[in-house]
Amino acid sequence: MIQLYIPLNFLGVIYREIKQSLTDLDKMFVLMEKDREVRDAPDAKPLRLLPLPPAGEGPGEGAAPDATVRFEDVSFAYEPARPILKHVSFEIPAGKTVAVVGPSGSGKSTLARLMYRFYDVGIAPPPSPAPRGSESPDGPAVGIALSQSSASRGALPATGASAGLDQPAVGAGRITIGGQDIRTVTQASVRQAIGIVPQDTVLFNDTVEYNIAYGRPGATHDEVVAAAKAARIHDFIAATPKGYATPVGERGLKLSGGEKQRVAIARTLLKNPPILIFDEATSALDSANERAIQAELQSAAQNKTTLVIAHRLSTVVDAHEILVLEGGVIVERGTHAGLLAQDGRYARMWAMQQVEATPVL
Ligand code: ADP
Ligand code: MG
Repeated sequence: MIQLYIPLNFLGVIYREIKQSLTDLDKMFVLMEKDREVRDAPDAKPLRLLPLPPAGEGPGEGAAPDATVRFEDVSFAYEPARPILKHVSFEIPAGKTVAVVGPSGSGKSTLARLMYRFYDVGIAPPPSPAPRGSESPDGPAVGIALSQSSASRGALPATGASAGLDQPAVGAGRITIGGQDIRTVTQASVRQAIGIVPQDTVLFNDTVEYNIAYGRPGATHDEVVAAAKAARIHDFIAATPKGYATPVGERGLKLSGGEKQRVAIARTLLKNPPILIFDEATSALDSANERAIQAELQSAAQNKTTLVIAHRLSTVVDAHEILVLEGGVIVERGTHAGLLAQDGRYARMWAMQQVEATPVL
């Protein structure tokens, strides 16, 4: 127990410090790297994405990389007593899009976080009487740190036996990219291969230009502007007195949720990685912007291995496969047409959104 208290306290302090100095989630995780358990194995090598075998027509020049993503019987819990994902299996074939829909709290964003390796797949050991009062909407890092360390050390829970902390996560499944378990390769290489537009974007306390170019260090100003235009944030930026040199964040320009989301989209478009994750990427946008950007995202996802978490079902119609997640379990899966024919949960959700989408005069 002492073992848990000390890191908790320590991380609480670190978290408060970090929160003051920067606001980027990714950077925060990078800084926490030192103290969390999602670590590279000593022998970790970079992820290697081999070119796909040529698909018949044409030479293999510029062939898409084999960025196939597989979730194999993945289970996960942030807190030992509360499993979030239960035996989730699916594949996103290289270049295809898989969509995830389902009620809030069903574990959709958790899938995205695992794929980006914010956490390692696993279930924590049985509950220890750790202090819980420290959790607040403002300070999730405390809970995150605890669950990361326990999840990655974890064994299957609730057997009554006290789990040895050194035991590997038994039966918790694995995630592979291009056939490589993402726990065995370097995190940096996994994150380089993936562009993520998270549900809530947090930006660096730096210029707009920096925040977009962060997607691809070394990008030219013109490339940054092109990405900003595609993400429909250019006009907004151009209208500020300092333009792309405008600082954003706590000490600079405060952006709305939708504006931040568009910066994150620009960053991801610029990064142009082989794998994309859109976690309700347009949820904070008004419907005109959403429609426009949706088209950009769709074209960005062409021939990319893409996980789309959607709040609006119209965006998932063309997906290779749609997963309906409920309580951490895939309760239905199939194509849009197949799921409508099943006449189950997805069909009901679809019917409901059609009603909502009908303008009331
Ligand atoms: P969705 O994206 O489908 O709304 P999430 O994957 O964000 O759902 O969350 C699934 C469940 O996990 C929710 O009950 C949520 O409260 C819980 N959860 C999410 N993040 C954490 C965390 N850092 N620590 C503990 N529980 C969490
Ligand atoms: Mg979510």
